[in-house]
Amino acid sequence: MLELSHISHAYAKKPALRDITLSLAAGERLAIIGPSGCGKSTLLRIIAGLEPEHTGSVSYRGRDITRVPTHLRGIGLIFQDHALFPHMTVAANIGYGLYGQPRATITARVDAMAQMFGIAELLDRRPDQLSGGERQRVALARSIAPSPGLLLFDEPFASLDRTLRDRFLAELPPLLHHAGVSSIYVTHDPLDACLIADTLAVMDAGRVLRHAAPAHLFRDPQTRLVARLLGMRDIVPMHPAYAALAQPSPAATHLHIHPQAGVDARQHPHSLLTVTVRGVTLRPPWPQLQVAVGDDVPPFSYDWPFGEPPPIGSSVIVAVRHDCVAWLRDD
Ligand code: ADP
Ligand code: MG
Repeated sequence: MLELSHISHAYAKKPALRDITLSLAAGERLAIIGPSGCGKSTLLRIIAGLEPEHTGSVSYRGRDITRVPTHLRGIGLIFQDHALFPHMTVAANIGYGLYGQPRATITARVDAMAQMFGIAELLDRRPDQLSGGERQRVALARSIAPSPGLLLFDEPFASLDRTLRDRFLAELPPLLHHAGVSSIYVTHDPLDACLIADTLAVMDAGRVLRHAAPAHLFRDPQTRLVARLLGMRDIVPMHPAYAALAQPSPAATHLHIHPQAGVDARQHPHSLLTVTVRGVTLRPPWPQLQVAVGDDVPPFSYDWPFGEPPPIGSSVIVAVRHDCVAWLRDD
């Protein structure tokens, strides 16, 4: 339903986006992850029509909208600082985008939105009488009320604490599905991306490096850069001892072993690796070991849900599930 084709953009001759081609299916939730400054907001602004000077084209619902102004696109954009109108009630905020429609239609739609977002009790309040989470709900209700085909979220929950964020991220997909809205969700948090998205695009320095299902990307990030952008820690350089693991890729210069590589290993294809214990920390409810395949070799983390951890300095044989190893090449 959305096709971006060869989009490039520069601010004062400094490139912000470089030749981005990306598409979104109807009903799809796409998350975009990437470090600060990589061009995520610029891309959303281009889709919304707020950055008309770009090259390349944007097509939406089968129509080229590259030259269509923002207000005629039918695309909603939600920012982190969900600026509600402070002097208007919650009901008036939610109904704002319906301006011009019959009063009864607006009232019915506002009520439906309030039900959907669980804010029916708040309709007469003003934004300064709401908590952060409530304001966020109102902002979402306001953006969905005009029935946009596509909603763009620019790190909308970055200011909320983890618990509240998790709750929104769990609630949002069914709401979007119910409203028949496709969405693009920008974040720099890999967990947020996994919670919200059907597909995940990894961006860096104005480019999209990969676009695939999150499970696929986490299973096979392919390069060190993508692994790092996905938040994988303990990316260790190749060492002859890792030959004990199955199927190293010839191009791999590094690898990532997931800390849970030993969990249920007996039920899954796995290899055995001899390691030395360098450290033990508590990762509730279990200890986590820092282990290495040799002296002068960087350690990786290995969860130990097997009772008392082995002593520091001891040598142990650990099981490593094949599906917990990513072989990485240089970028
Ligand atoms: P992100 O949202 O991923 O943090 P942005 O899209 O905001 O990245 O920015 C991409 C690049 O473009 C950055 O280098 C940023 O400094 C630059 N940039 C963004 N907006 C402007 C602007 N209005 N004027 C000049 N440079 C900008
Ligand atoms: Mg941004």
